[in-house]
Amino acid sequence: MKPQNTLLANTGTTIFTVMSALATEHGAINLGQGFPDTDGPEDVLQAAADALMDGRNQYPPMTGVPELRHAVAAANKRFYGLEYDPNGEIVVTSGATEAVTACLMSLLNPGDEVVLIEPLYDTYLPVVKLLGATPKLVRLSPPHWELPREELAAAFGPNTKALLINSPMNPTGKVFTREELQFVADLLIQHDAYAVCDEVYEHLVLDGWQHIPLATLPGMRERCLRVGSAGKTFSLTGWKVGYISAARQLATVATKAHQNLTFTTAPNLQRAVAVGLAKDDSYFEGLSRSLQDKRDRLGDGLRRLGFGVLDTHGSYFITADFAPLFPRGFNGTDADFCRMLTIEAKVTAVPVSAFYDSDPPRTYARFAFCKREALLDAALERLAGWIAGRTV
Ligand code: PMP
Ligand code: GLN
Repeated sequence: MKPQNTLLANTGTTIFTVMSALATEHGAINLGQGFPDTDGPEDVLQAAADALMDGRNQYPPMTGVPELRHAVAAANKRFYGLEYDPNGEIVVTSGATEAVTACLMSLLNPGDEVVLIEPLYDTYLPVVKLLGATPKLVRLSPPHWELPREELAAAFGPNTKALLINSPMNPTGKVFTREELQFVADLLIQHDAYAVCDEVYEHLVLDGWQHIPLATLPGMRERCLRVGSAGKTFSLTGWKVGYISAARQLATVATKAHQNLTFTTAPNLQRAVAVGLAKDDSYFEGLSRSLQDKRDRLGDGLRRLGFGVLDTHGSYFITADFAPLFPRGFNGTDADFCRMLTIEAKVTAVPVSAFYDSDPPRTYARFAFCKREALLDAALERLAGWIAGRTV
């Protein structure tokens, strides 16, 4: 038989699925895949339940139900002063995963170059390659994840069509500063390139850091496709409702991608997300405050156990260096460590190497802290027991 698509046939199962399956198999506390262990706000859930029963269960409009398109536009204005027309500049998608893919599809022709920043979310690279575009990787390195400006500038060239930027960033918890974003904006203008802005963690920002959409910088609105996710903003990751905000011309072509990917997204969930986006500021502040407490609890605990815990200013994730636990060196990779931790300590983390294309750092594990405090405590207790009991 003829071979199937080479790239997909050679792509492994995503690390999030692999580690969650391993956690289940070994009865481990799953701090790997990033999902909260409590449901989102009651009023949003109730709105979804009501919307299921009120008879609007057929195909919604392709770009999203009007309630949600208006709510996304209003949120853009309320949080960032960004103006988008709900009729033509907002596209609702089935999760940010679809949104990012649709944005890339809408921009790239075979042969175009795309600047990507490692560590990167695991759908970016396969999609860029499937589209026949050429990835240009720029690498951030632990422990500080600084933007290597010279290398970033060198990655741009005459064939650069777009940059994909994720802020707040998974897995690093880095929140790009205005200065960094200005540097990026200057490059985009200089090279006449677009940006796909994966901002799914826009409301999960800690320590008083401020999320700045690249689209708010001068000259950027017409170059940026900004992606959000209700799954993250409302702790409902299974819902898979995402949204693209972009200038009309960009949104029009992104809609064509959406038309060919999923066409529409569950109307009842969309209507509930509209209710969520209209919640008052205290909800959004409460979300980040509660995550900050969880980050502190897990981060302090891991530090006490001897991990080298890196700073995280946003997202669901802490990155921790496990090398200090092994004074004589760890004989294996970060994937081996995470596997061992799952099987022996019964706590699951994700190896950070999964976010690099090649030659990754090897001693970092990503822990999700978006869990109830009792679960974080139980995980720390298991880790303490494992550390005490092992022979290094
Ligand atoms: N981008 C990043 C950086 C993510 O961490 C996630 C979370 N899975 C997504 C996109 C996808 O979001 P969604 O679940 O809305 O598809
Ligand atoms: N974004 C989540 C993470 O990074 C998981 C999403 C997924 O499982 N595809 O853990």
